[in-house]
Amino acid sequence: MDESGNIDAGGGAVKVDLGDLAIFGGAPAFPVPLHVNRPNAGARADFEAYLDRAWQTRWFTNDGPLATELEARLAERLAVAHCVLTCNGTAAMALTVRALGLSGEVIIPSYTFVSTAHVLHLAGLRPVFCDIDPVTWTIDAGHCARLVTARTSALIGTHLWGRACDVEALGAIAADAGAHLLFDAAHAFGSTHRGLPIGRFGTAEIFSFHATKAFHTFEGGAVATNDDALARELRSARNFGFVGYDAVAEAGVNAKMSEIHAAMGLTNLASLDATFARSRAAHEAYSEALASIEGLSVLRYYGDEVSSRHYVVVTLDPDAPLTRDEVVQVLHAENVVARRYFHPGCHRLEPYRTLYPEADAALPVTRRVAASVIVLPGGAEVSAEEAERVSGLLRFVLENAQPIRGRLDARRSP
Ligand SMILES: *Cc1c(COP(=O)(O)O)cnc(C)c1O
Repeated sequence: MDESGNIDAGGGAVKVDLGDLAIFGGAPAFPVPLHVNRPNAGARADFEAYLDRAWQTRWFTNDGPLATELEARLAERLAVAHCVLTCNGTAAMALTVRALGLSGEVIIPSYTFVSTAHVLHLAGLRPVFCDIDPVTWTIDAGHCARLVTARTSALIGTHLWGRACDVEALGAIAADAGAHLLFDAAHAFGSTHRGLPIGRFGTAEIFSFHATKAFHTFEGGAVATNDDALARELRSARNFGFVGYDAVAEAGVNAKMSEIHAAMGLTNLASLDATFARSRAAHEAYSEALASIEGLSVLRYYGDEVSSRHYVVVTLDPDAPLTRDEVVQVLHAENVVARRYFHPGCHRLEPYRTLYPEADAALPVTRRVAASVIVLPGGAEVSAEEAERVSGLLRFVLENAQPIRGRLDARRSP
């Protein structure tokens, strides 16, 4: 970026006037798409050494030594009694819902990834959509309390963007209701709440180790819990219900983690602190570069808690001349594949939109946040220089919002 705030996109595509924007025919700021949550990866040599071990033993899945080692290391890191690995986070959630025998209604935020709603729906339960807190964007405990009925069997909060839910308030509501409290901790590996690692709260916390997460195993997930009986049940349920060589205690599924996935987990775990440091540096670079842009605010992490800061989340002023969707469109043309997570809210996705049309009226904060949020490419694989270039591009777009608006309108009218 030069002194006037223009972007030098390597190929010489400096955004000096509107015609330089890719949406108006200019060269894209990035030659290849810059995706949100480009996967990080530890040392390939480490990964290959683990593969050599699996080759020698011919042990590729079924509670192999690598999966067993990863479970132990993760439990230690999370300071929790059990970390039960699964093939993905959604399977981990489904196994937990089933193992706890949940029934009737389960309260979840609408502003989250759709998988939890699907798990409940497919299990014959009713997802009851709760609004989010206007400041933290995690499930609104006050609204949650009002949604509790005699049929409520659980509350499932999401530690959105790795920032903890109001764990204590939700715990009190769950206790009053005689319901379980679970957490979708897919964003929160390595985050703390009140200085303690996320993973120990509620009855259980569910992690996703999908390739786009801060810590990953290509595909994978885990249930973290201090409940011995639940952990035992999950281990059997993820393996067809087997409790011995020829003994099956119940109808289970196949949700095991293979050794190659565990190998990736062990590889990534070895360099995780350095990975998180890079991710925090990218977030820092964005925060500084975006700080003074009018009409845009950066979601702050809790200053007194640890987090990988894997997500770079901004909101746009709803009164800005360009809509959020237009800004996203302009960024996509520049090969900055920013996303509108979790637009439009689960309750407006099928089948929930048709099944529960009344939900929308009770979710004003969800609606507002979902309409204004942009998630930018963040995480350990984004360099400070890339973060500055994306920020510079956003600055150019927002500072020229009025003329861009005019040009988009002119293009639209015949
Ligand atoms: C990624 C994610 C999931 C799903 O995890 P999978 O491992 O892909 O099944 C669930 N919830 C949230 C909040 C996520 O971000």
